[in-house]
This record gives sequence, C-alpha cells and structure tokens, in this order.
Amino acid sequence: MSRAILWFRNDLRLNDNPALNAAVRECDEVVPVYVLDERYLERDRWGIRRTGPYRLKFLLESLYCLSECLRDKGSRLIVLKGLPEGELPRLAKEYGCSRIYASKEYTHEEIKVEKAIDEACDVQFYHSSTLYDPEQLPFAINQAPDVFTAFRKRVERYAAVPEPLSPPDEIPGPELPDTHIPSVESLGFKMPPADERAVLEFKGGAMEAHSRLDHYFWDTESLSSYKETRNGLIGADYSSKFSPWLANGSISARTIYYEVESYEAEVEANQSTYWLKFELLWRAYFRLVAMRYGRRIFFPGGIQDKAVDWKEDKVAFSNWCAGTTGDDFVDANMRELLLTGFMSNRGRQNVASYLVHRLKQDWRKGAAWFESLLVDYDVCSNYGNWMYAAGVGNDPRDRIFNTGKQASMYDSDGAYRQLWLKEHELAAAAFIEQYL
Ligand SMILES: Cc1cc2nc3c(=O)[nH]c(=O)nc-3n(C[C@H](O)[C@H](O)[C@H](O)COP(=O)(O)OP(=O)(O)OC[C@H]3O[C@@H](n4cnc5c(N)ncnc54)[C@H](O)[C@@H]3O)c2cc1C
Repeated sequence: MSRAILWFRNDLRLNDNPALNAAVRECDEVVPVYVLDERYLERDRWGIRRTGPYRLKFLLESLYCLSECLRDKGSRLIVLKGLPEGELPRLAKEYGCSRIYASKEYTHEEIKVEKAIDEACDVQFYHSSTLYDPEQLPFAINQAPDVFTAFRKRVERYAAVPEPLSPPDEIPGPELPDTHIPSVESLGFKMPPADERAVLEFKGGAMEAHSRLDHYFWDTESLSSYKETRNGLIGADYSSKFSPWLANGSISARTIYYEVESYEAEVEANQSTYWLKFELLWRAYFRLVAMRYGRRIFFPGGIQDKAVDWKEDKVAFSNWCAGTTGDDFVDANMRELLLTGFMSNRGRQNVASYLVHRLKQDWRKGAAWFESLLVDYDVCSNYGNWMYAAGVGNDPRDRIFNTGKQASMYDSDGAYRQLWLKEHELAAAAFIEQYL
C-alpha cells in the first residue's frame, strides 16, 4: 500500500489541482496538510509584519472551506503552524508516507524551502498557479521575451492554456484527527472592524471564489463591460475582484480563463471579455519574470540591477502608509488600503509612483507595505508591478504619474476622495501600530 502527503500551498482548492489529482491517481492513500509558515507571521527587515490581519483572516477562511471540501470527499485537512521543511518530513515519518505531492512556487524563499524538503523526502511538484504550463511555452524560460507585448503575442499565437482538471471523486486516506484552524486573534492579530465603504466583503475559500465568478459573469454580466469599467475606484463590480482567491489558489487562473471562453460562446465575445484574459496574461508574465530572474526581483535596482540612490525618510514613509501625505488622491487610496486591505489597480499605480518618484523612497518598502496589507498579495504580481512602477523592471522607462491629473481623470467629481477623506481622524491610526 502506498501513502503520500498532499502539501497544500497557494493551491487551496480541489478543482484543477494537478498535485492532488496525481497524488490520488498514483497512491492508495493521501494525507492532506497545510503548514502555516511562521516566517510569514514575523516582521520583515523594515519592521513591517509580513502578513497583516486582512490576508490572514482570508487565508483561515480559505482553509476552513478547503477542510469542508476535503471532508465531502472522505478526507481531512491537517493544519499545522511551523516550518514546512521541519513539519513535512516529520509527518511523512509519522504517517508512513513515501512521497510528497505539491504545487510549485517560483520565488527565492519558497524555492529554498522546496529544496530543503526535497533533501529529506521524495517530492513531486506540479504547476498549478500558472496560466500556461512553463514546460510547454514556445521559448525557454531564460529566453522568455522581456517585454510584455512580445510575451503576449508569442503565447497567444503558439501556446495553449491547459484545460482545468476535474476534482477526484474521492480522496482515500488513513484515519486523521479533526481539523483545527487557529483564529486571527490566537495568532496575535487584532482584526480591524469591517468598513462599510469596502469594495467587497472578501471571504476566503473556493466556494466564495466560484460565487464571485458567477456573480461577475453570469448573474450581472459585468464581464461584458469590464474594459470600460476596470479603471473604477468605487464599488464591487468595476473589476472582477478575483485577485484574493487567485492569490491563494482558491480558484485557478485556468478555470477563470475557460469560464471567459464559455461566456464568450454563450453570451458574447467583445473587447471586454478579451481584456480579462489579457489581464490574466499580465499575471502569467510576472510569474515568468520571477522564474527567469530569481532573487533579482527583490534587489533595490530590480532585475536591471540599476543603481538608484533611494532616500531613507521614515516620516515621509509613515505618512504615505497612513494616508497623510497631503496629496488627496494618494491619501484616499492609502486609507482604503489601510482600512480594508484592498485598493484598485488605478490607485496602486498612483501610490506606487508617488512613493518612488515623488518621495524617492526604496520601492521595496512600498512593496513590503502592500505585502502586509493586501488581501490579494501575490509575491510575483506585487514585486513585478512594483519594479515596473519604480522603473527597475522590464520597462526601464520611469512611469511617473501626475496624481493631480489622474485624480481629475478617474475621480472627476471627487466622489472617491470624499468617500475616504471625510472621516480621517484616523480610525487608521488605531491599526497602524500593529503593522509598523
Ligand atoms: C504596485 C502594484 C502592486 C500590485 N500588487 C498585486 C498583488 O500583490 N497581487 C495581485 O494579484 N495583483 C497586484 N497588482 C495588480 C492589480 O492591481 C491587481 O491584480 C488588481 O487590482 C486586482 O483587482 P481585480 O481582481 O478586480 O482585477 P481585474 O482588473 O479584474 O483583473 C483580473 C485579474 O487579472 C490579474 N491582473 C490584473 N492586473 C494585473 C497586473 N497589473 N499584474 C498582475 N496581474 C494582474 C489579477 O489576477 C486580477 O485578479 C498590483 C499592481 C500594482 C500597480
């Protein structure tokens, strides 16, 4: 009899999960495990907590949903807190597992952990978070096009997005203990009160991901006007809001891609439906950048290793974090982030440009702040977009945004700024301490 561990990482789903399908196909019994990596709960080199309460809550909800889905298939989820490279070999021994199945990650720290586990156990990795299978791309990773448009044209023409996999009917396994998922508070975090101005009440888990998809595509047909609304700032439906579920893998990019294709066949295909696929390509592209450049995506000079003299101004940085810079468009966006864990793409581009080009602060501090706060933090998308904004990524141009002009274009009646600036006596101040 063969038994294996299925190590869940940023693939918290049963649908379209190649590692899960392979484990069930190749082994008699499967032991599903998630390790809450304690390093992600610590502070980084700037003293910022790497995971803030918004994403932590979302993650715990996602784990709860995953554990319920596993239970429906006759299995259980083991949730542990610690270091995966310590916990997994120990569990493999305890349960007599000869192999570990897992999804691949593409960034430095995660790869280090993979290597450490690989030294102790037999591990098989699968590509679950990418749109395209990296091994089937029409170019070698180290020769991948550096410019997004060139990448997009090559993959659109020469690569196919693999069809999503169906989940296994059953997940056989040994008798496992009841799942215990810690609370946000038990992990030492204080949850900010829900803010009614939030674009959406994000709830973690595959079920919620699919109901958001149904809402955006089938119930409201918002997808049909995505290209016109995607630069919006207020409300649930100006953009898909799929990012938090995509980030922890509650839903796969391939599932969304094929759902767009179904929509195109059944409702309509227009520029907006294409544009959602186009944005998924940006996500795919930043994964490729991470695969190709490794640690360099975390260098102060980015993948270009450009010499830039970043300034160190703690006051300017904490004003930026708290939304008290004096630039009302930047401040409104930063307060939305602080009080809800989300910010629009338009907002992100503006506040990033302001921190880097106006305040001349190290872009990695901004990226670290986003890492802590964002409910949808994704290492490749975050560091890739920040490098881009800082002019140290694939596009060497300085992408300087005139925030005043941007505000008059995208918030012409001032409604967004009014929404977030009106009650400033910082509710935010109460929460900022737990981050900084
Ligand atoms: C400085 C900065 C930091 C960012 N950090 C993150 C991050 O940590 N995590 C994250 O998911 N996105 C990040 N983004 C990209 C983008 O802002 C968000 O993906 C988007 O706002 C999420 O909202 P949505 O799901 O409604 O997007 P939609 O507009 O509905 O797009 C659909 C999906 O396409 C993908 N996508 C869209 N734009 C981008 C982009 N520029 N780069 C990569 N993928 C994209 C996302 O997966 C998104 O969910 C960042 C952008 C900037 C400028």
